[in-house]
Amino acid sequence: MPEQGERREELAARLARVRGRIRAACDAAGRTEEPRLIVVTKFHPASDVRLLAELGVIDVGENRDQEAAAKAADLADLGLRWHFIGQLQTNKAKSVVRYADAVHSVDRAQLVAALSKAVVAAGREDPLACLIQVNLDPAAAGRGGAVPADVPELAALIDDAPGLRLAGVMAVAPLGADPAEAFATLADVAGGLRQRYPDATMVSAGMSQDLEAAVAAGATHLRIGTDVLGPRPPVG
Ligand SMILES: *Cc1c(COP(=O)(O)O)cnc(C)c1O
Repeated sequence: MPEQGERREELAARLARVRGRIRAACDAAGRTEEPRLIVVTKFHPASDVRLLAELGVIDVGENRDQEAAAKAADLADLGLRWHFIGQLQTNKAKSVVRYADAVHSVDRAQLVAALSKAVVAAGREDPLACLIQVNLDPAAAGRGGAVPADVPELAALIDDAPGLRLAGVMAVAPLGADPAEAFATLADVAGGLRQRYPDATMVSAGMSQDLEAAVAAGATHLRIGTDVLGPRPPVG
């Protein structure tokens, strides 16, 4: 397929540019250990994810259960790690635990309970990695995320829940604000959590626009969509 060949080249070039930016940001921040790149493939076809896997991508991010479940089933042969990064309704927990390695958007007690119950019911062997999504924008309460003051209680719930593993924190920088400030707050929250739960080391932060600020603030996982795949196709 000639178009696939072209797309492969485009993805390879974009991926190389993003990897270059990550390296430069690490150099600038004096970091020797690079964060992991999660390529956010939402709205893009499974064929793109397959090409990315051929290019060495292991971690992929999705934000809608229906789309993610279909792609994960299609691409089960690739051994990819699926990160669920979108707002999650409790009635989708049963589906998500069948394919996701990690859920980055755990932000309320009911969701912890639903995920735990679903993991146990599915007879899943490895625990589901759960990241607490932290809302860094007091003006945007509706967009998901727990306020920093609620993180300790949620962490305790996840830590106690059968089938779940407290893995760390996730955040999206608020629109129109300085991402460095937001990611510094996230780093504080992450540090507090690690004191109590030393294995909760993941700090998922940084998108196409602000990956440099996230690297500087100590992100361990970056979630990059647009700059690897190009603009998302319109929703049909
Ligand atoms: C879509 C999305 C991303 C990727 O954003 P880009 O700007 O396309 O890099 C990262 N995190 C979350 C939570 C997203 O929904």
